[in-house]
Amino acid sequence: MALHSIIIGAGIAGLVTASHLQQAGRTILLLENSKHAGGVIKSLDADGFLIERGPNSLRGTHEFLDLLEELGLQDELVTGDATAPAYVYVDGALHAVPMSPPALIKTKLLSIGAKFRLLGEPFIKARREAGEESVASFIERRLGRQVLERLVSPFVSGVYAGDVEQLSVQASFAKLPEFEIAGGSILRGALRAMRAGRNGQATPKRSLRPYRLCSFRRGLEALPGRLAKSLGENFLREAQVTSIRDNNEANSSARFEVVFEHQGTRHTVAAATLIVATPADAAALLLKECAPEIASLIADIPYASLASVPLAYRQEQLARPLDGFGFLAPRSAGLRTLGSVWNSSLFPERAPAGWVCLTNYIGGATDREAITLSDDELIATVHQDLHKVLGLTGEPRRLPITRHQRALPQYILGHAARITAVEAALQNRTGLFLSGNYLRGISLGDSIKQAMQVAEKSCRC
Ligand SMILES: Cc1cc2nc3c(=O)[nH]c(=O)nc-3n(C[C@H](O)[C@H](O)[C@H](O)COP(=O)(O)OP(=O)(O)OC[C@H]3O[C@@H](n4cnc5c(N)ncnc54)[C@H](O)[C@@H]3O)c2cc1C
Repeated sequence: MALHSIIIGAGIAGLVTASHLQQAGRTILLLENSKHAGGVIKSLDADGFLIERGPNSLRGTHEFLDLLEELGLQDELVTGDATAPAYVYVDGALHAVPMSPPALIKTKLLSIGAKFRLLGEPFIKARREAGEESVASFIERRLGRQVLERLVSPFVSGVYAGDVEQLSVQASFAKLPEFEIAGGSILRGALRAMRAGRNGQATPKRSLRPYRLCSFRRGLEALPGRLAKSLGENFLREAQVTSIRDNNEANSSARFEVVFEHQGTRHTVAAATLIVATPADAAALLLKECAPEIASLIADIPYASLASVPLAYRQEQLARPLDGFGFLAPRSAGLRTLGSVWNSSLFPERAPAGWVCLTNYIGGATDREAITLSDDELIATVHQDLHKVLGLTGEPRRLPITRHQRALPQYILGHAARITAVEAALQNRTGLFLSGNYLRGISLGDSIKQAMQVAEKSCRC
């Protein structure tokens, strides 16, 4: 008998879609080609240090909190201090990112000239040309060169491991150009949107303020772990999909036929809907025969590589307290490390007593060679940078390094148009859905929201 949905790929996107469909009473099968549930989400206990090999934390959204309630996982949730400052390393010192107008006036991160330039944003003429613009061009045009170099560029390294000259502002920060179009300036557009939101929206069901920085007691992997458990036998690991056929009969209860190998046996399953929730390159390979027009649109979405280099130190090796989220470094700061997340300051039980643990990132779109460095070279480079920034002395304690060859999709110029074309092509393929961080948003919060939307659409087929 045909299933309602087959889902391929058990990262957070595939797991959330599968779980929602199951809860809605649909028959499903989730196929993952590795042993692991959760994709890039991997938490590891290394000699009493709890390290994250992929994402470190997430910003709580209503969808995420609803999901926790559904899974009964609220008791495992840990929240960090949402007011903990994030720092930027500029001119040889750490500066807290200003989060309020008074902090912006006081900060030494920006020169007086740059602050005046920023305040002049509402008076800058809006762009007339159509088409996508780079993040660098947009920010420099509207907010000035220093805001680009000292605030936006490090932020883009931190979130996308990306290059501001290459990324499309329409794809990466869609709201900003929308504000410019709607209000003639970012500020006026944002104010208008805020007013419209206040007038038109029902009161939100909860305040998200306490959930700005979320994880779980034993690390982020608790979420995919619980999702995988809830799926029971409907989730198969180490399942290799060998072919997909679309028999092209809209509304057929067996429109998609998937052949896969599992534990040495070949299986054929059919379903009314197919959800491909793998990274873009894997999705393109899977869809090459049955949806070539979609496969060719997503096949060459570029990804940036990234190495995560956690290091531990004894408290007495620190010259200053780790009193914040961590720091980001602009490319002009003379460091090779992109940024450092101070895990043991964010959440409890990340390091044994007397120790601190920092997860440091190196590589990204502006440093493609970094991933090829040996462990010793990575550790030496990061330690030298931490010595400069934090005055750390002595030697670090080594913890397992993770190299992500294809860490994060890059929403480069043309990405917004590419995804619009993908969505148009999907309209002609009833029952076929894509899900994943290469479409519209790379954060865990975005991935969860999109995955729920895909489940709802699939339910309607
Ligand atoms: C180093 C790093 C740090 C990050 N930090 C943060 C952070 O702090 N906060 C935040 O919000 N976000 C962060 N992110 C982003 C976020 O973690 C990801 O965008 C999100 O987890 C991606 O989920 P996904 O399901 O789309 O893809 P993935 O996690 O890549 O999952 C895809 C799944 O598909 C499987 N698959 C691939 N090919 C096949 C196939 N042929 N058949 C079957 N299965 C297949 C894979 O094995 C994998 O399990 C980070 C990402 C990285 C890499």
